[in-house]
Amino acid sequence: MQVLQSTKLANVCYEIRGPVLEEAMRLEAAGHRILRLNTGNPAAFGFECPPEILEDVLRSVHHAHGYGDAKGLLAARRAVVQHYQTQGIQLSVEDIYLGNGVSELIQMAMQALLDDGDEVLVPAPDYPLWTASVSLSGGTAVHYRCDEQSDWMPDLADIERKITDRTKALVIINPNNPTGAVYSREMIESLTEIARRHNLVVCSDEIYDKILYDDVVHHPTAAVAPDLLTLTFNGLSKSYRVAGYRSGWLAICGPKSHAESYIEGMTILANMRLCANMPVQHAVATALGGYQSINDLVLPGGRLKEQRDAAYETLTQIPGVTCVKPKGALYAFPRLDPKVFKIKDDRQMVIDLLRAEKIMIVHGTGFNWPEPDHFRIVTLPAPDDLRDAVERIGNFLDGYSQH
Ligand code: PLP
Repeated sequence: MQVLQSTKLANVCYEIRGPVLEEAMRLEAAGHRILRLNTGNPAAFGFECPPEILEDVLRSVHHAHGYGDAKGLLAARRAVVQHYQTQGIQLSVEDIYLGNGVSELIQMAMQALLDDGDEVLVPAPDYPLWTASVSLSGGTAVHYRCDEQSDWMPDLADIERKITDRTKALVIINPNNPTGAVYSREMIESLTEIARRHNLVVCSDEIYDKILYDDVVHHPTAAVAPDLLTLTFNGLSKSYRVAGYRSGWLAICGPKSHAESYIEGMTILANMRLCANMPVQHAVATALGGYQSINDLVLPGGRLKEQRDAAYETLTQIPGVTCVKPKGALYAFPRLDPKVFKIKDDRQMVIDLLRAEKIMIVHGTGFNWPEPDHFRIVTLPAPDDLRDAVERIGNFLDGYSQH
């Protein structure tokens, strides 16, 4: 008898760790060294854990081996409340859920919200966990276009066009993965105005809120639209470079009296998974309240900024490649001019690059981008390594075409 996967998985894909990674692992097993530019995993590129976070985790490991509160350690939730309070966002410890990374909380938030056939507006390109989580929850991800010509800003008219009576939520990823776009206050106002007019729950993924270049400012959605029910997602993985510790939070802001049933659903799901990883929760207050070493990395002269610059400069030197300069996050999402490159299947292109150059990137359609004319590269390797990698990608692309 064949054991088949559930039909619930029919539309669920997560290409960042999909067939391309399987091919990379096969090549590694055969003795090749692969440069993995597919995941935003700072530790893999020599970014250290901030020492005070490490100390807290090590200290707590000795006693934090029991289950904890399903919503999270009270001291950690208090720190999250205070963190938002300084941004002008009012909430209480009851509004915070800690999770094993933002990933777990996104899936829980969608499970608690959606009935079969409900629609969620998700950006294209997106961080594909959003589309996958909506699908797994029985919903339909309806993609609204972000416009490369306007520095990847959301196309507001496209959002309006795609709203139906089944639309329940609007997802905002700011700063954006994969494009690196950071939205102005006016853009957040326009997006939330649409949500206000159509009674949509706003889901704001702000995991890169501290990874900002060139003096851009991040505007938390919940601060711009305090009258709306906003689910804000953030965590330690990126700004504190501890992705493997699996620590994130969800903050429910706005008029909770309209959302008692939803909140009860979230709490049931939090209770069902008992609690999130406990030792790292003892480091959340230290992380949020301590020295923000991320600033040293993104300011001029900082490693992340230099790497963003190196990636942008070298990518845009490849004939036929253009790229909107990322203003935040850890990625670049360049465009391959279809007049120059004949690519029908961008996943195949990425596999061909992997086999030829032993460099792993992710194809644009893996981010629910509709055309096979983009790819994403992480800007985490040291500048010289990035320059070398991009040069090799350029050499590969030179003359590459699919028939
Ligand atoms: N949201 C976005 C936009 C991301 O890019 C990522 C990870 O790359 C996540 C969420 C997941 O983060 P976590 O490590 O907290 O699960």
